[in-house]
Amino acid sequence: MNDLLPADSPLWQYVEGVVTDILARYGYQEIRFPIVESTELFKRSIGEVTDIVEKEMYTFDDRNGDSLTLRPEGTACCVRACEENGLLYNQTQRLWYMGPMFRHERPQKGRYRQFHQIGVETFGMQGPDIDAEVLLLSARILRELGVISHVQLQINSLGSAEARANYKSALVAYLSNVQEQLDEDSKRRLESNPLRILDSKDANTQALLNNAPVLLDHLDEESRQHFEGLKQLLDAAGIQYQVNPRLVRGLDYYGKTAFEWVTAKLGAQSTVCAGGRYDGLVEQLGGKATPAVGFGIGLERLVLLVQAIEAVPEKLDQQADVFLVAVGNVQTVAMQLAERIRDELPFIRLMVNCGGGNFKNQFKKADKSGADIALILGEDEANEGKLAVKFLRQEVEQQTLSFDDAIRWLETLE
Ligand code: ATP
Ligand code: MG
Repeated sequence: MNDLLPADSPLWQYVEGVVTDILARYGYQEIRFPIVESTELFKRSIGEVTDIVEKEMYTFDDRNGDSLTLRPEGTACCVRACEENGLLYNQTQRLWYMGPMFRHERPQKGRYRQFHQIGVETFGMQGPDIDAEVLLLSARILRELGVISHVQLQINSLGSAEARANYKSALVAYLSNVQEQLDEDSKRRLESNPLRILDSKDANTQALLNNAPVLLDHLDEESRQHFEGLKQLLDAAGIQYQVNPRLVRGLDYYGKTAFEWVTAKLGAQSTVCAGGRYDGLVEQLGGKATPAVGFGIGLERLVLLVQAIEAVPEKLDQQADVFLVAVGNVQTVAMQLAERIRDELPFIRLMVNCGGGNFKNQFKKADKSGADIALILGEDEANEGKLAVKFLRQEVEQQTLSFDDAIRWLETLE
């Protein structure tokens, strides 16, 4: 679990700002829900035989003896919150949330025990148009952050529950013949969760899968049409993708569409954004059958990617545009002037020297703030209602202006 320090928070705020701005432009609304939920919620939604539920959850009994879990993901919580507050009845929803998720994993670059997601969930829309919309939305996020040329979209269809069950039997029949050659995890999963074998990282297992039955050949007609419809919409929108028939997600609730945005820039932690359709989940959690599709973006990985490809905008960590140097007994005038500038010129980030210090000492602080301009107020200036303007990073001659003229001049800098 990491601290986010002031040196890094501007980059996070920038990334979060780009994402939430795009979400608003698509008409998505924010929802917030607690970071703890009953353990049952995750067991019933994500599935008992998944990595998350089997070995990654932070679960504890509270003082009443109720089993609670720090949320490992947001979809189940979002469904719970919507259901409990009547948001799914006879209406559609386009929602997003942002916040920490918790999984007890082995920490490494791009994999942490507290990490952060921006999640998008939509409810009540069953056609492939909404699948396409959330993919366009995710593509726009990656494009506007400047990382799109370093990621690749992979899509697949997991079909209906029945199609998946049929496929599972075919896969298990095939893999049982080569059982001895599978990696240890996959051997275990052959009984418990055979679809997960498809995304085994083991090279030998992957080679064995080359001749295995393919999920896309087992699709039911409705899922097949849905997938064709989605591909047509993506083609028409000019979104490039790769159909990856071995893409299965690690959570049980997905059906039909599944997708991931992957990158080669972050080592083993290659998935930046992942999601899909989960038409069965609302009903499974006690609501009325409700079609749904969504995705989660791993913010740490997105930020790492922006850094890795050097797409960080310049001047992001600049604390102030203007620094007010105030030397001598001028605190009252300095504060009044600063507040007036903030009233009249709200676009300026203005920092005022506090805690005294001589000119040299204050100019050091001005420099460290990243400001381009220093306003200098000494006792003589303060008495005359004047200040000096000094460019900190350009060779421009210092000039003395009245407060009014200084404000008019600062206004031209917007
Ligand atoms: P992975 O295969 O990398 O473990 P996952 O399939 O478990 O990912 P999801 O549950 O689909 O991931 O979560 C969506 C996104 O959240 C991931 O694509 C990734 O960007 C991010 N994510 C998941 N787990 C972590 C983690 N432990 N640390 C940082 N980011 C994570
Ligand atoms: Mg995982």
